Amino acid sequence: MSLDKFFEEATGLLGSRWVLLSDWQRYPYSRDYWPILVYKELSGGRASLPSGVVLPGSEGEVVELLELAGRHGVQIVAYGGGSGVLGGAVPDKNWVVMDLSRLDWIDWYDEESGIVDVGAGVYLKTLEEWLNKQGKTLRHFPQSFPEAVIGGLISTRSIGQYSTGYGGIEDLVRGLNVAVPSVGLVRIKPSPRRSVLLPLEQMFIGGEGLYGVITRAYLSAYDLPECSEKVGWISASFKNSLGNARSIVRRRIPPDLFRVYDEKESPLHFGVDGSVSIGVVEGECNVVEAKIEGIGKIVNADPWEGAELADKWLSKRFNVISDLWKLYELGMGFETIEISVPWGSAYDLYDSSMKSLGKLDRVFFTGVHASHFYQSGVALYYTIAYSLENIGDTYNSIWDTLMGEVSKHSASISHHHGVGRMRAKYLEAEYGPSGTELLSKLKNCLDPTSILRDKFFGGKS
Ligand SMILES: Cc1cc2nc3c(=O)[nH]c(=O)nc-3n(C[C@H](O)[C@H](O)[C@H](O)COP(=O)(O)OP(=O)(O)OC[C@H]3O[C@@H](n4cnc5c(N)ncnc54)[C@H](O)[C@@H]3O)c2cc1C
Repeated sequence: MSLDKFFEEATGLLGSRWVLLSDWQRYPYSRDYWPILVYKELSGGRASLPSGVVLPGSEGEVVELLELAGRHGVQIVAYGGGSGVLGGAVPDKNWVVMDLSRLDWIDWYDEESGIVDVGAGVYLKTLEEWLNKQGKTLRHFPQSFPEAVIGGLISTRSIGQYSTGYGGIEDLVRGLNVAVPSVGLVRIKPSPRRSVLLPLEQMFIGGEGLYGVITRAYLSAYDLPECSEKVGWISASFKNSLGNARSIVRRRIPPDLFRVYDEKESPLHFGVDGSVSIGVVEGECNVVEAKIEGIGKIVNADPWEGAELADKWLSKRFNVISDLWKLYELGMGFETIEISVPWGSAYDLYDSSMKSLGKLDRVFFTGVHASHFYQSGVALYYTIAYSLENIGDTYNSIWDTLMGEVSKHSASISHHHGVGRMRAKYLEAEYGPSGTELLSKLKNCLDPTSILRDKFFGGKS
């Protein structure tokens, strides 16, 4: 490996302004929002810095940098907004970070088809505001909306708060350009749908920068809705709420934004006993009204009456960091873990995991809500508060306990945060040994010398 030669040639290619080598320039890239690293930094610990940061200004430069890295035996990690929560964008000390933020164009590819051509480094918030000015929207609102960028969102297969109505990022991606180490720039043109062997764009949605670097995306935009109405209701228990949610989804009338809270989270967020459900129903006004009426019949309540519950949540929906601070000042950390599970075992998993997590030392609180719903199942989102004392042991026992429960109930280890570093050890629980071997073989085929970060398959580190 020759890092010096790599940086010398990268400087020749990009200019010295776009090759960052001093400590203060590398420092912001030493972590993402993986709690274990955030708490380490808050307690004065020092994360390891990457050996340098390169900022390509074009798709061609991304390809050339990968080629340079291959020639000099250097390992690269792609960096989007750094809002990932599992350490996916975090470099080891010999790695080079590739920050894609200069790939920041937004343009209509085809205005009539509603397909926007966007650089991988564009902030989601910037794109949404650009679209809104033209009466359009992606309706993709992860809680990290102000921080996340397009390449990172696609690479983690992200999902937003309006997922029941508008789907996840995978439902918006119509085409992609990806720089693949063994191939060069792959251009997957935009199409409403295709049936042409493996849909190549799907190989990279959720790929976490292991198989290629996304440089460009073609995304579908929606028209802004005519009406957007808030609703809410309270049920006796989370079990009842989940049963109602399943009926609502099965009858294809779910709110576009739909959230159901258990008996632990409902008092915390809404000051209410029982299990709160909130929603936002969008679209043509007459359709919205009919849907709300249908929901009311299923839940046996008037959903309009709980509108202020939805309002309360909407007004604070991006405020996670201030909650993190409040707990930190009390000597507590918090972790969020999301999984997905078929309806058939959803409540059993919830019940049994709450019991197991409740037995752990130094865990003060576990609450769950469901905010993404499907015909076949639901995503459960755990919020866990724990003592920062002995954080390493506590943190690992929380993860091992919940992932153990997930395995027992045939659930999926992640619904939308991805794998990053934290979940790498649970990969076999998802795909089994042969599925994991297939992923490893794909990695070897697309990136035979492990230029792109590899904490999974025994590549260099
Ligand atoms: C407060 C908070 C709330 C959150 N809420 C949500 C939520 O509601 N829904 C949700 O889905 N997620 C959520 N997340 C997680 C996070 O925002 C998402 O995973 C997001 O998609 C990461 O985007 P990013 O641009 O910050 O990516 P980064 O963190 O920079 O990178 C994520 C991964 O993608 C890779 N990568 C980045 N850019 C590229 C590229 N161009 N090509 C190939 N690989 C690339 C990185 O190497 C890394 O492995 C939340 C995070 C926080 C901190």
